[in-house]
Amino acid sequence: MSEIVYLNGKFLPIEEAHIPVLDRGFIFGDGVYEVIPVYSRHPFRLAEHLVRLQNSLDSIKLANPLSDAEWTRLTLELVARNAGDDQSIYLQVTRGVAKRDHAFPKGVKPTIFMMSNPLSTPPAAQVENGVAAVTAPDFRWLKCDVKSISLLGNCLLRQLAAEAGAVETILFRDGTLTEASASNVFVVKNGVLLAPPKDNLVLPGITYDVVLEIAHAREFQVEVRAVSEKEVRSADEIWVTSSTKEVLAVTSLDGKPVGDGKPGMLFRRMHTLYQQFKRDVMRKAA
Ligand code: PMP
Repeated sequence: MSEIVYLNGKFLPIEEAHIPVLDRGFIFGDGVYEVIPVYSRHPFRLAEHLVRLQNSLDSIKLANPLSDAEWTRLTLELVARNAGDDQSIYLQVTRGVAKRDHAFPKGVKPTIFMMSNPLSTPPAAQVENGVAAVTAPDFRWLKCDVKSISLLGNCLLRQLAAEAGAVETILFRDGTLTEASASNVFVVKNGVLLAPPKDNLVLPGITYDVVLEIAHAREFQVEVRAVSEKEVRSADEIWVTSSTKEVLAVTSLDGKPVGDGKPGMLFRRMHTLYQQFKRDVMRKAA
């Protein structure tokens, strides 16, 4: 079966989905996106993803072309039209097709594109042993809270990890932890879970929120505050979180072991709670 995507009002096989070369997404990276994990055919935290989409659209001054009810209907239909119970729904909205000019065009329809990919959560070996990460200065722009399709900075940074045989690149701006190239970062020191606050320098991760909710509900000791590079480098545990990575332990940073070089106790607890939380949410949705 051919993968079915959604483009500007139509569901069609991906091979038949085309956009004009003057689409501002192609020319300027002028658009925003979301990635929504789907478990057992139920989108996870869809309402929260749609709120973040609205915030991204507001930041780039682009009117939302669809209501939340329409986004929900399209998401569910795309899930139904594609194979696999666990999927990853990608959606993007660009400012549409117009003669190349930086200023916004008038009266142009946004381009709406959605696709489904199989959801690939981390293999058991990564959960068991943790993963390697490298570090780099965060040279991205000052609106990292916008889920922009202009991801060149993130691509260059993620490539550093790929070239080092690592899974993520953890980023510091002026000596302070921001996030990683495609995930949020948590640190554990002396039994306290440290999380950088949500501001313009990090993407407000949906998984970040879930992890903090669980941590508060289960009475972890939590501090949401600026985390220094020094604290990261001397951490007992480092975690990365995202919709597809879920929660993963970083056990090697720039080639040096994190803590004792194995996923820590708090990580193992959080990983179990996260899986349990997912199952409970999906059972309720079913
Ligand atoms: N930060 C960045 C830069 C990201 O690209 C992502 C998503 N891939 C995240 C954080 C995590 O966000 P979420 O938990 O919503 O997937």
